[in-house]
Amino acid sequence: MTQSEQDMPLIFELSRPGRVAYSLPACDVPRRPADELIPSELLRSEPAALPEVYEVDVIRHYTELSRRNFGVDNGFYPLGSCTMKYNPKVNEDVARYSGLAKIHPYQPEESIQGALELLHTLQNDLAGLTGMDAVTLQPAAGAHGEWTGLMMIRAYHESRGERRSKVIVPDSSHGTNPASATVAGFETVTIPSTAKGLVDLDALRAAVGSDTAALMLTNPNTLGLFEEQITEIAEIVHEAGGLLYYDGANSNAIMGITRPGDMGFDVVHLNLHKTMSTPHGGGGPGAGPVGVKKLLIPFLPKPLVVKNEDGTYNWDTEQADSIGRVKAYYGNFGILVRAYAYIRTYGPEGLRAVSEDAVLNANYMMHRLAPYYEIPYPGVCKHEFVMSGRGLKKYGVRTLDVAKRLLDFGYHPPTVYFPLNVEECIMIEPTETESKETLDGFIDTMIRIAKEAEENPELVLNAPYTTTVTRLDETTAARKPVLNCACS
Ligand SMILES: *Cc1c(COP(=O)(O)O)cnc(C)c1O
Repeated sequence: MTQSEQDMPLIFELSRPGRVAYSLPACDVPRRPADELIPSELLRSEPAALPEVYEVDVIRHYTELSRRNFGVDNGFYPLGSCTMKYNPKVNEDVARYSGLAKIHPYQPEESIQGALELLHTLQNDLAGLTGMDAVTLQPAAGAHGEWTGLMMIRAYHESRGERRSKVIVPDSSHGTNPASATVAGFETVTIPSTAKGLVDLDALRAAVGSDTAALMLTNPNTLGLFEEQITEIAEIVHEAGGLLYYDGANSNAIMGITRPGDMGFDVVHLNLHKTMSTPHGGGGPGAGPVGVKKLLIPFLPKPLVVKNEDGTYNWDTEQADSIGRVKAYYGNFGILVRAYAYIRTYGPEGLRAVSEDAVLNANYMMHRLAPYYEIPYPGVCKHEFVMSGRGLKKYGVRTLDVAKRLLDFGYHPPTVYFPLNVEECIMIEPTETESKETLDGFIDTMIRIAKEAEENPELVLNAPYTTTVTRLDETTAARKPVLNCACS
């Protein structure tokens, strides 16, 4: 950011009494007294302190604010675990086709056959991709998919006359896993990871029992590691009568290579707003479809789209044991269109190439950074990896300082301090779409910051220098939010 941008006057400073951004003819509609329209105790006694400015000032103000935002369209954004992956712009066009964007969910089925075919094909494609027997497209987010899956697991156990109250989650699981289990009425049991960062089989054996409803697993886990003993894990849980839940929010390491269904999992959710072409952030909308094996099909949310023998499609609302509807209408249709377009343009080989490149990029970055930052779990990572900044502590520099310093070089920092089981954690997911030049640029900057920490720690400790705001007091901001600007 240049000096002049930083010095740009705020819109309140530009304000001059009587200056306006419009010119309108005098109003010829008779005015009613304000207190006839609004109760007098709610009426302002003085006009609001709004800036009085020209139209160009308003436009420049908002354009400048938008430029202070950071997103994948202006820079590298390697935020591990929840990374925004590739969202082809053409899929935005596809989702806006009027035949798809302007239909109504209550239109008669015969008038939306194309949309139903799209949903049916997507259900099948996602089932094929994950190795599952059926898929619901209704859930609106990853956590919503988790909850939907757990409600089906609960219904399944209850249908067999079993009351199983516990869901096991490894300590490397995503935070939504224990949260969803709790909301679905289960008790969560956390099991530790081994020194290699994988599920501790002895701890798992000790934790399972006749009260185990399910194990929820993220694989590759949040350390970016593939669970080597995945089939043993599946056996232990199934032998105890529990089901296996796969958190597939980030599937960029496995698409076209392996499938949760083949690993023994009974339920999986995907985040279409991470892996399949929907931009995320700012709270949605998203989609968290859930795939299930045969034993859970009766409990799927209704309705599902079904194909009739004559080739037409319709909603099946007859499922007697369904857990019910989990989302208004049929899910976030526009998001499903993007995912459909994404899968159809890539095809099976293309999806596999996505995963291979995502894994290659992460490994390249990890190996180049290993001499400068501690890699707590060395070896081959999947689409993301974790490092520890604890080696910089002797200079008084912490991971947070490294993240702040990255801002000066125009990078969005990686995820920090997650997962919780790695001290001074830095979690990086480069994604498959970045060029080698971009990866090298980021790596060189990380190396430079490690050297700065050693030679001139103050420089890192006082960063960032180039951003509009510097270090915010996040605790006070959360506890005592100031939600309106009291400028005058
Ligand atoms: C993002 C994420 C989730 C939650 O998805 P939301 O759409 O944010 O609810 C769950 N698990 C993992 C591993 C994730 O990365």
